[in-house]
Amino acid sequence: MSVYWNSRVKNLSPYVPGEQPREKKLIKLNTNENPYPPSPLVIQALKKAADDDLRLYPDPACTELREAIAGRYGVKPEQVFTGNGSDEVLAFAFGAFFESGPDHLPVLFPDISYSFYPVYAGLWGIPYKTIPLADDFSIDTDNYKIISGGVILSNPNAPTGIALSVDRIKQIAGFLKKNKKILIVDEAYIDFACPGEGLSIIPFCNECVNVLAVHTLSKSASLAGLRAGFAIGSAALIEGLCRIRDSFNSYTMDRLALSGAAAAIRDEGYYKTVNKKIIATRLRVSSSLAALGFKVIPSQANFIFASPPPSSGISGQALYAALREKGVLVRHFNKPRITDYLRITIGRDADMDVFLQICGEIIRRR
Ligand code: PMP
Repeated sequence: MSVYWNSRVKNLSPYVPGEQPREKKLIKLNTNENPYPPSPLVIQALKKAADDDLRLYPDPACTELREAIAGRYGVKPEQVFTGNGSDEVLAFAFGAFFESGPDHLPVLFPDISYSFYPVYAGLWGIPYKTIPLADDFSIDTDNYKIISGGVILSNPNAPTGIALSVDRIKQIAGFLKKNKKILIVDEAYIDFACPGEGLSIIPFCNECVNVLAVHTLSKSASLAGLRAGFAIGSAALIEGLCRIRDSFNSYTMDRLALSGAAAAIRDEGYYKTVNKKIIATRLRVSSSLAALGFKVIPSQANFIFASPPPSSGISGQALYAALREKGVLVRHFNKPRITDYLRITIGRDADMDVFLQICGEIIRRR
């Protein structure tokens, strides 16, 4: 605390990201990064972009990247917004579409979801209300069909990994539209849903004009270190996001990020293969944890949310600490309802085998 802080800064409760350890030896399964490298075409594009042109500002409209995204998802470039990671896109979306001030209706999101949502609300002074998940951590979409300031959902939800059907999402959007409110669908993990599930709202963004889908290249495109994210919605919503960005920083994406992200978007084939492997590993590790007696929440993401068997007498916190001591870093949230769960990012098969073996040893030791 400092006397020089204004009241806005004093009242912030900033987000605390997962640990980025300096020890390289740890098996890192704590921040949902992709264990496989980015496409070779991304590295090539980055090398090509690292040239004398770095003295010039990047394209503020991010045209090439937006065109690549539009081509891949079958929308118009004016329906695409890009930014410095989806965290930034989400922060802008809160600022653009939800009302600030205590006189406004609260924005709704689940009590267990991405813990950045209340932080963005706090930053912009947006009132919000959390809606409890059901006991099995599912979302009852009827709870969101109430008069509100708008809704944000993560689909699949984080950290549970449970996904909602497009029909359910469309029902909430339809209700909100009658009240001229927006639904933001954070699809950070959607590329890890079982193929054929068709869970993304993007194909319906022309009919659902009050829906904004937000994606990241950090997870399924193996580019957490590059910082690139995007939103797809109606052209009017995208213009709203641009108005916020251009009142803040016109160049949120640098030349390297623009080139690398565009190359990743164009190499869909490479990432389909990589992410198929992650889905297969997720299914295998989920079964193995269940066989050890863990309660495993059915995940459509690149992580598993699971709690140790009650008979082992080990708490989530204790298991987290025991795993860390053995060199495996997972994520534990010290929060009501989920304190006995761990969120385990899906890594390479060999690393997951080490994780499973250590889990087995810890549980048997008890
Ligand atoms: N949404 C969700 C649900 C996430 O878990 C994350 C990653 N922490 C993000 C958005 C942000 O991802 P990034 O800023 O790396 O694009």
